Amino acid sequence: MRYLFIFSALLISFQACTQGSMSKQQAKTESTEQSFPLQKSDEEWKAELTPEQYNVLRKKGTEARFTEIYNDPKDGIYRCSACNTPLFDAKTKYNSGSGWPAFYDIVSPENVVLAEDKSLGMVRNEVLCGKCGGHLGHVFEDGPKPTGLRYCINSVCLDFDKSQSSDK
Ligand SMILES: [Zn+2]
Repeated sequence: MRYLFIFSALLISFQACTQGSMSKQQAKTESTEQSFPLQKSDEEWKAELTPEQYNVLRKKGTEARFTEIYNDPKDGIYRCSACNTPLFDAKTKYNSGSGWPAFYDIVSPENVVLAEDKSLGMVRNEVLCGKCGGHLGHVFEDGPKPTGLRYCINSVCLDFDKSQSSDK
């Protein structure tokens, strides 16, 4: 009984970042077996990344909710914290209430890859960096207009670059 309760609590806490399945996608969906342009050994990643970055980006972990350090600047680009690839425009960031940074669009379909993720007993669309293959988070179809998408991303995977902004 006690275990059942813990399991339910776990399920509820995961829900905010795990709901929904996708039928349409903006980024390319690829097999996780594909090779990415930037290849490094596990040892190299371990040496370059912080333990928290390594756990999320390379081991597909999830950071604790409400650990985001960015206070929603409006001009700039969020880059992959492992390889510096531009991923999200600050203008597309919004507060989804989930406790993780949320974006409704990506900077470029070239820079982001989606892969089917069947872990935790459900089907979700995993968001990966298109250059280094680092795990960033998941995408859901309950986002705001104009895309209707919610890219739910771990903040530890993002570096904010205020010197750049894409005006498109
Ligand atoms: Zn990357």
